[in-house]
Amino acid sequence: MARGRICPPMRELSARDLSALSTRQLLALDQAHVWHPYSPMPAREEPVLVESARGTRLRFAEPVEGTREVIDGMSSWWAAIHGYAHPALDAAVHEQVARVSHVMFGGLTNAPAIRLATRLVQLTPGPLHHVFFCDSGSVAIEVAAKMAIQYWRSLGRRRKHRLMTWRGGYHGDTVHPMSVCDPKGGMHHLWSGLLPRQVFADIPPSGFATSLDPRYVAQLAELIAHHAEDIAAVIVEPVVQGAGGMRFHNPGYLQVLRELTREHNILLIFDEIATGFGRTGALFAAEHAEVSPDIMCLGKALTGGYLSLAAALCTSDIAEGISRGQTPVLAHGPTFMGNPLACAIANASLDLLCGRDWAAEVARIEQGLRAGLSPAAELPGVVDVRVLGAIGVVQLDHPVDMALATRTAIRSGVWLRPLRDLIYTMPPFVADDTDIDAITRAIRAAAQVA
Ligand SMILES: *Cc1c(COP(=O)(O)O)cnc(C)c1O
Repeated sequence: MARGRICPPMRELSARDLSALSTRQLLALDQAHVWHPYSPMPAREEPVLVESARGTRLRFAEPVEGTREVIDGMSSWWAAIHGYAHPALDAAVHEQVARVSHVMFGGLTNAPAIRLATRLVQLTPGPLHHVFFCDSGSVAIEVAAKMAIQYWRSLGRRRKHRLMTWRGGYHGDTVHPMSVCDPKGGMHHLWSGLLPRQVFADIPPSGFATSLDPRYVAQLAELIAHHAEDIAAVIVEPVVQGAGGMRFHNPGYLQVLRELTREHNILLIFDEIATGFGRTGALFAAEHAEVSPDIMCLGKALTGGYLSLAAALCTSDIAEGISRGQTPVLAHGPTFMGNPLACAIANASLDLLCGRDWAAEVARIEQGLRAGLSPAAELPGVVDVRVLGAIGVVQLDHPVDMALATRTAIRSGVWLRPLRDLIYTMPPFVADDTDIDAITRAIRAAAQVA
């Protein structure tokens, strides 16, 4: 048998050299080979190389705008609620790695997954009794859609395969999720012919505390009644529409959807991938409305930002319906389903969250964001400033100059990642008043120039 070099040699580089590469060399390789989210290849902007992270701070490999360390205003996209390198989460990693990092979920099970599923059933509102683990939020939405469609098929209702949602949403980047993203923001024109054609209501009227608009309620009622025979489920992000535009709506619309979907034999799916685990001031955004969906998707903060893990939870009615059908199994099974390492970290993250007064932390951050961001309303070009829970948003009347806004924020010691016309933050819950003050100052500075 041939011995020695099995992998082809890396051109110009040995594996040993790789660890000694300079920041410049690494960034050159990044540009040559590595695709970044929603980017061309090669990327137009140069990413910042992160060397390490601890608490609320990211440490860059070399200074950017004279700054080596920044406060993370984004929680790595909603996820790192306890901050980075938390001792309890690190300990959970080490403990679980020493036992088993991964083992298949077909025919085998593991205690971290069992414990996490049981915990999620207890924590989430209403009778969501069954948990399907998967690897990312988008996959959880695919699974939720399959659960809903398969449920109706198992009852012989094959026509019920469409989804309904409202415009302005974001549910992920695989096919079913894309089909219920906002048609404009989700670039549906790019995928015409590929995406299933779903039923869209208008964007829900803005404002958490704005009273219900009877005309909008009538529109929802009319659409649902008109398409009831075709719709398997209504799927929405409860209370906060995230990447689709960082908009808040009155939780009363969720009660309206709950009543209408019951009346017309339609399932209700809440996508709590961004809003779950305290972000909006309630443990789950559904609690603002005191309604529970038939299916709920969780992700992002589930592991405190350590690893990709998501879940779709459903009622016994759905689980039993599917399991009595002609194909009596839920037709899905990711390779890394129920990953013990991710589940162990998620358990530790929930221990941390539930062991602290997270509601007081989020309320304190909400107050700090309100105080720090409200002066931004006076800036030229700012059309709206809104805060809910640990989410703060400044909306401009023009698309943000991303490079300029990012550099300006870094100069103020903060990492921000604006989106279209929005400069926004969802800081880690462990951010203290000084961090929040710095974040709001950075947002104001960015809004002024970008
Ligand atoms: C991020 C997000 C998703 C997709 O999750 P991924 O893990 O990125 O696939 C779905 N829905 C909402 C509301 C999200 O914020």
